Amino acid sequence: MFGSDKVELSDAAKKGDKITLSMLPNNFNFSQSTLQDYADCARRFQLRYLDKLNYPAAEAEPAVENERHLQEGQYFHRLAQQYLLGIPIDKLSRLANTPELQRWWENFLNFAHKELDGFTSLYPEVTLSAPLGKFRLVAKYDLIAVTEDNKLIIFDWKTYRKRPRDEWLSARWQTRVYRALLLEAGSQFTAAKPNKPEHCEMVYWFSNFPDEPARFPYNEKQYKLDWNALLKLTEECQSASAFPLTDDRQKCAYCPYRSYCNRGTQAGDLISIEVEMEAEELFDLNFEQIGEIEF
Ligand code: SF4
Repeated sequence: MFGSDKVELSDAAKKGDKITLSMLPNNFNFSQSTLQDYADCARRFQLRYLDKLNYPAAEAEPAVENERHLQEGQYFHRLAQQYLLGIPIDKLSRLANTPELQRWWENFLNFAHKELDGFTSLYPEVTLSAPLGKFRLVAKYDLIAVTEDNKLIIFDWKTYRKRPRDEWLSARWQTRVYRALLLEAGSQFTAAKPNKPEHCEMVYWFSNFPDEPARFPYNEKQYKLDWNALLKLTEECQSASAFPLTDDRQKCAYCPYRSYCNRGTQAGDLISIEVEMEAEELFDLNFEQIGEIEF
């Protein structure tokens, strides 16, 4: 099993920037995206969540192709969710109306028949939240599945065109947040209270690589490391008054705030994104942005 055994410091903390003033509103909710943004680049966190700036630059080129990929990814997630809620397959299949969507959809149906039929309960599109220090931690799950012996399996659908390395996925805040939060706030899914870390697992399923899911079991040690790291990072966010630009200029190539930071105007290309796999937020699902499917 891969594990992240250290508490990551943001660039701001590594540089020892003076920390003097809280700028976060009291009702601020932390999520895997906000934490990942802060860990990747404190300035991006500031611009996105504190200053609430709109995206002034295309995140990747070609912009039209990127937009299409985003829309197909969002549509795919909605199809999967509707399927898991019991909408008949024939109604949904005709909505998979591009070659890419059709292929993902067929891969998903095969996967669902093979892997999901054996669970006792399936809970698609679940939002969980729990106190995290003075704030709250929230996460939206594509699917939480419960086994007969009360194990909780988190499924997350990814539409990447390249299969990321397991080590990379293991270190991402999504992997750490989703498992830890499920333990904190997921007692309603099983008869076992509280749930044990060993009874929790996260699975990434890739629509383009249906036979290569990435599996991340959990244990007590990793859970403690994750929760402590979450507390530490949120405390740092809360008290930070300096939000420095990242030293890793690779991250800027796919960042929409390049023009604010004088870090270039030309967006990175999609192929490079897939090689670097540092722009997963581009393709991450934001349920609020997804329209309802019309039948
Ligand atoms: S352009 Fe670079 S320095 Fe500026 S917010 Fe984005 S990642 Fe950070």
